[in-house]
Amino acid sequence: MNNKLKDQFEITFWGTRGTLPVSGAPFSQTGGNTNCIEITCGDHTIIIDAGTGIRELGSKLVSTTPEQKIHLLLTHAHYDHVEGIPFFAPLFMENKVIDIRCGKLEGVKDTKQLINDLMKRPFFPVGPEVFSATIDYVTLEKNCSFNISDNIKISTTPLNHPGGATGYRIDFAGKSFACITDTEHTAGKPDQNIIELIKDVDVFAYDCSLLDKEMGDFQGYGHSTFEEGMRLAELANAGYLLATHHMPFRNDHDLQQIEKEMKVKNPKHAIAREKDCIKL
Ligand SMILES: [Zn+2]
Ligand SMILES: [Zn+2]
Repeated sequence: MNNKLKDQFEITFWGTRGTLPVSGAPFSQTGGNTNCIEITCGDHTIIIDAGTGIRELGSKLVSTTPEQKIHLLLTHAHYDHVEGIPFFAPLFMENKVIDIRCGKLEGVKDTKQLINDLMKRPFFPVGPEVFSATIDYVTLEKNCSFNISDNIKISTTPLNHPGGATGYRIDFAGKSFACITDTEHTAGKPDQNIIELIKDVDVFAYDCSLLDKEMGDFQGYGHSTFEEGMRLAELANAGYLLATHHMPFRNDHDLQQIEKEMKVKNPKHAIAREKDCIKL
């Protein structure tokens, strides 16, 4: 790998929908797949969440060399974040080594049991024994940080979501990216854990499922707003915000309107759309 590729830090969105996939003309500009982000750090591919977007990413990754290591980080196990796992082609390839990491979630012992339960009857016809890759299942401690190579550091924080969820930050080659989804904020009380995690980050993806004015109708669902994302960006001195986890009822036009409002605050704030690729 040449030096330029070694320091390559690139983020690609393969799914930015929350809750349910959508399809059809009103959603075509934003894309219809659920949560999946690919982060390339040199010869490491880090994937955050395995929503339906991971299927197409998998088709791309089948042709990478075994030197390109694959790490799957799950924020949590709600369907929109894991339903693509059984359709992720590299899991069916003998020459792939993949680690799957997730924080401890309510109702399951560990990450291995989580995947077993996901691919279990009556929900799915076959279990994870159909995978041929070498898979390392890791259950993350709360608030842990770890390195996946000498120069790639991953930090985590617990999020406020029913059943639990984990926010991630990746630091590599002097740059940083964070992903904070799904999480519910309390009005007027910014989440200090999140502020600490995204402090001075170059860019972060944030759960913008709702609008401030909708929060009253969705108490307890575990979601946040683009307005709160912008407040957090300011408090944490973060570079800019990419709004993600769009609700299925939010069409391209709605999201364009939200983006307009975001850009008044910071012209770099944007809606995350499928296939958006950011080079840090
Ligand atoms: Zn979700
Ligand atoms: Zn969720």
